[in-house]
Amino acid sequence: MDRYVVFGNPIAHSKSPVLHSLFAEQTGQAMQYDTLLAPLDDFTGCATAFFTQGRGANVTVPFKEQAYRFAHQLSARALRAGAVNTLSKLADGRVLGDNTDGAGLVRDLTVNAGFSLKGKRILILGAGGAVRGALEPILAQGPASVTIANRTVEKAEQLAELFSDLGPVAASGFDWLREPVDLIINATSASLAGEVPPIASSLIEPGNTLCYDMMYGKEPTPFCAWATEHRAGQVMDGLGMLAEQAAEAFYLWRGVRPDTAPALVQLRRLLAL
Ligand code: NDP
Repeated sequence: MDRYVVFGNPIAHSKSPVLHSLFAEQTGQAMQYDTLLAPLDDFTGCATAFFTQGRGANVTVPFKEQAYRFAHQLSARALRAGAVNTLSKLADGRVLGDNTDGAGLVRDLTVNAGFSLKGKRILILGAGGAVRGALEPILAQGPASVTIANRTVEKAEQLAELFSDLGPVAASGFDWLREPVDLIINATSASLAGEVPPIASSLIEPGNTLCYDMMYGKEPTPFCAWATEHRAGQVMDGLGMLAEQAAEAFYLWRGVRPDTAPALVQLRRLLAL
């Protein structure tokens, strides 16, 4: 049976095996998908050994940059993102690196939530790997403006500079902004510390602004709770992004696009347990 894994460290918490088993069952694909705890000091050795037999892999924290260097060939979006979350073995034995995180986010927003990004004012909080992966697919949708705000402003400036050829993108500090926007994406890991980035609530236009947290959990994240308190038009967490990036990887490997809706229902149920 074709073998797939998700590399990470730690990895026991990963929802990827559940998602891919559901996708395989739904589409009638014969495949096996497991977690693989890679040693922190030897991702390359672990990945090399896996790909003697394995067909494909997802890659999560902290190995996405190492997977970028491990891949023999890179997709255009992985090159832009500077990180790889999906590895596929090619017919000639080499390994292709791709990045489906940004595509997953955009699909969750545009397809699942029915929110068009075209002509919208977008604020992205954070300037880490997830933002780097999301910028190209977001800018490809033709937004009116994208502002990257980060605690360390220089990192936001570097990203804005790096992607400026793709559309209207600017950098900012958290507390410099006041005017309402149409979409706020929280791509900081502040929620892990139970915090909300210190931005003005006037950025939310009550009843209109969509607030999206890439984080997800059993309870609403601190950012989602903050957005609800300030009457955002719509509030979403990142579980849909997780399912969509997985579906995109599944499509790359198997050539079939699974329906994420039933998988999301199941995932939400598992999360609540
Ligand atoms: P990185 O570690 O690369 O970046 C973290 C970012 O968060 C940086 O911009 C950092 O700012 C900022 N940050 C950290 N702590 C705080 C804080 N207390 N207050 C304000 N800003 C803070 O992480 P990633 O980009 O890989 O991931 C970001 C988030 O997105 C994570 O929560 C991750 O779980 C989530 N994610 C979700 C996915 C999904 O499928 N749903 C996929 C990928 C990521 P600074 O530069 O100043 O340090």
